[in-house]
Amino acid sequence: MVDQPCTSCGAIDSTVAIRSPDHLRDVLDAVKGCLRSGAITEMRKGTVSVLEIEPDGPRPDFIASDFQCCRCGRRYELRVETFHGAGGTWKPSR
Ligand SMILES: [Zn+2]
Repeated sequence: MVDQPCTSCGAIDSTVAIRSPDHLRDVLDAVKGCLRSGAITEMRKGTVSVLEIEPDGPRPDFIASDFQCCRCGRRYELRVETFHGAGGTWKPSR
């Protein structure tokens, strides 16, 4: 396990408590941006790939995906229970 993030994943290397649907959308946008730029890759898909979740469309009840930085191998995870309307976390995996 790498102790420090690299320049690719440093911008997303923080624990984020997701507290609202708007906040979730912002986090999803950031994650999608990193996926599309090739900075990170989605390792294990939950019910759907994060890339398939529409910003304002229906969302799966659970979002549970793991990600890995393509440069340094640092791992991240996204866990959200969307049916509660809020409540989730983006964080580096330890
Ligand atoms: Zn990295």
